[in-house]
Amino acid sequence: MTAPAATGSGREHLSPEEFVRDGRIVLEWLARYWSRIEDYPVLSRVHPGEIRSRLPKDPPEAGEPFDQVMRDLDRIVLPGLTHWQSPSFFAFFPSNSSGPSVLGELLAAGLGVQGMLWATSPACTELETHVLDWLADLLELPPEFRSDGPGGGVIQDTASSATLTALLAARERATGFESNRVGVRAPLVAYGSEETHSSLLKAVRIAGLGSDHLRSIPVDPKTRAARPEAFSALVGEDLAAGRIPCFVAVTLGTTSTGAFDPLEEIGRIAREHGIWVHVDAAMSGTAFLCPEFRHLQAGVETVDSYCFNPHKWMFTNFDCDAFWVRDRRALVETLSVTPEYLKNRASEAGAVIDYRDWHIPLGRRFRALKLWLVLRHYGAEGLRRHIRAHVALGQEFLRYVEEADDFEVLTPAPLNHVTFRYRRPGADQDDLNLRLLHTLNASGRLYLTHTRLPAGIALRMVVAQTSTTRVHVQGAWREITRTARSLE
Ligand SMILES: *Cc1c(COP(=O)(O)O)cnc(C)c1O
Repeated sequence: MTAPAATGSGREHLSPEEFVRDGRIVLEWLARYWSRIEDYPVLSRVHPGEIRSRLPKDPPEAGEPFDQVMRDLDRIVLPGLTHWQSPSFFAFFPSNSSGPSVLGELLAAGLGVQGMLWATSPACTELETHVLDWLADLLELPPEFRSDGPGGGVIQDTASSATLTALLAARERATGFESNRVGVRAPLVAYGSEETHSSLLKAVRIAGLGSDHLRSIPVDPKTRAARPEAFSALVGEDLAAGRIPCFVAVTLGTTSTGAFDPLEEIGRIAREHGIWVHVDAAMSGTAFLCPEFRHLQAGVETVDSYCFNPHKWMFTNFDCDAFWVRDRRALVETLSVTPEYLKNRASEAGAVIDYRDWHIPLGRRFRALKLWLVLRHYGAEGLRRHIRAHVALGQEFLRYVEEADDFEVLTPAPLNHVTFRYRRPGADQDDLNLRLLHTLNASGRLYLTHTRLPAGIALRMVVAQTSTTRVHVQGAWREITRTARSLE
């Protein structure tokens, strides 16, 4: 790039040589960070306001040398980080990164194209469509989800946006596209289990259904999965009261306990009533790259939409949610708005996909690049190998807990998410487990989070970080047992 001549005393843009020089420093910094990540406490130890107190009050008037910025990255930013890329990060769900993904992200940033329309950068759209067709095949999703069928895939920023987008399309399908015009007047109802992710409630509010119109399907007390007969009963009540059931979210791998809703039965009930079935497999969808885990998504053949987050477990850095619909017409008809300034021949000829009609924002980044680099670096075979290794480690941890007399497993753990607690006769179990959690996390050697079940507080162990190996899982178990047994 040749910059226009600047006047005044402000600094010039980076020259290509300076860009390479600074870029090399950044790549080397990251490589060193990743290789030394176990030296840092996994959970950041700073207090609220501590990081800001070290930053200058005013923005820089004059430009600063790059090495000063990097020095402050080490000095100010690093202590304020929780290390999500640590192999001893077992909290929430992972937010995995990897070399190929970061390089894809860098390329996307440098190219800086906007993919809102096919015409604004054809490769941005076509690579995304193609990579999502690849992924649909790799997860063995229904053929209708492919772009050469009636449906297709799109990258959303998050699973939350995917669920909202699906709900909007379901709302319009249920009202003959009337809500878009007159607002939501029909008493539409959406369903999700008691354990459904909080993003469903947010979507119901944003889509104008109103939170009173979100039904919570009771779960089985042991498996924590939605009970189909309870879903059927709720639908019956709503129909009898003149309401219109329009959407059900089926979660494959809940956030609290990793439960799998019975997709086949819920799907069957939903279909009888024309209810849109959306699968939220944000975390566990990645497992379905491996055929031996696909029994957990039995019934996927008939769903209306599906999403999972490569940005959790598939070594692709945030943000990257893969979202598919069976029939793209409902989606496009719901979201398409075409002012004069966006009109172009390719769109008008109907020959292309314009992804702005498939999600909420207009502008969109070239996110397919990082997914493409990840798929090409690992190959399906490499991805399966790493996923299987995580599941095997999850199962190994499960056995440790099962075999310890003073610990118990609280929910089924078919993959890599184990819900468990420490037990001590006569003690307040909740207090004991919360103290265990805080002591473990304060040690800096690992990071776990908790959930609440009817039985009380439970700890969650999720084995899915890119660099986690057996050493880290065994180390975590040693740390957990040692700490628990030495609690006052
Ligand atoms: C993580 C998660 C979400 C939210 O994901 P975002 O991409 O952050 O919106 C929703 N549902 C499930 C099941 C999840 O695991």
